[in-house]
Amino acid sequence: MQPALTIEPPQTVVFETLDALGGQVRETGDTVDALDFSRVNPATGPVAVDGARPGDALAVEIHAVELPHQGAIIAGPGMGVLGDLIERPVARILPIEDGDVRFGDLRIPVSPMVGVIGVAPEEGSHPTGTAHRHGGNMDAREIGPRATVYLPVFRPGALLALGDVHAVMGDGEVCVSACEVSAVVTTHVRVLESRAPRWPVVETDDAIILLVSLPTIEEALREATHEAVRALERVLSLPFEDAYLLASLTVDIGVSQLVDPNKTAKAVLPKRLVGPFEAWPAS
Ligand code: CA
Repeated sequence: MQPALTIEPPQTVVFETLDALGGQVRETGDTVDALDFSRVNPATGPVAVDGARPGDALAVEIHAVELPHQGAIIAGPGMGVLGDLIERPVARILPIEDGDVRFGDLRIPVSPMVGVIGVAPEEGSHPTGTAHRHGGNMDAREIGPRATVYLPVFRPGALLALGDVHAVMGDGEVCVSACEVSAVVTTHVRVLESRAPRWPVVETDDAIILLVSLPTIEEALREATHEAVRALERVLSLPFEDAYLLASLTVDIGVSQLVDPNKTAKAVLPKRLVGPFEAWPAS
């Protein structure tokens, strides 16, 4: 929690990040057998943001994500949704060229995202592999270029850190990893006074995404649903019953990841309905 850098917001900050495997899978033949798990899922930082106070929101816009020429993906017994079915550890190097991730003969268009982004938690400490109200290992594929992440500030200076960039990932991250890459992430950091959201919020061109991470996906899905209904009540001045019905008509509930120590669910609200997060009434 000692800051690596202190900034005066608003400020552009460039993060050089290590991949989620700590750079330990770089060549064909590297496997997860030899992985030192104490080096897994690192985040770069933390950056102290001058003037950020508990109760504020930290707005982190992702300007650009610069990808390297290859990534890696791993799985093994006990890992991921089907960890009981996979019999041996596997690791693949995935070349990245001409805007595609190569998987054998298949080409998958890159869609870069920041897997870990968070601030210092309210109390105690969380490993960077865990997600909760402070952000963390949410593995939400919407956190990519042009998106803004709003994080609740719990401690003076916020202490922002990020890493675990994926060149591409599907919702769920089912095998436990994605196309894990080291990357250069250019951000723009601002502070919104007294605007802390209850859970991390992501804004894209057309949606507001509420991210909830709890020990089971059932708990996370329920709380994401409740959070969406609370947002509709507040933003549109609706009674609970109407917000509940409207959520059923307009909100997409989904899964960001199913494989980390806390599971992350999302509620996707159309921006044409709720407008930009910064125009919402303070909670
Ligand atoms: Ca991750």
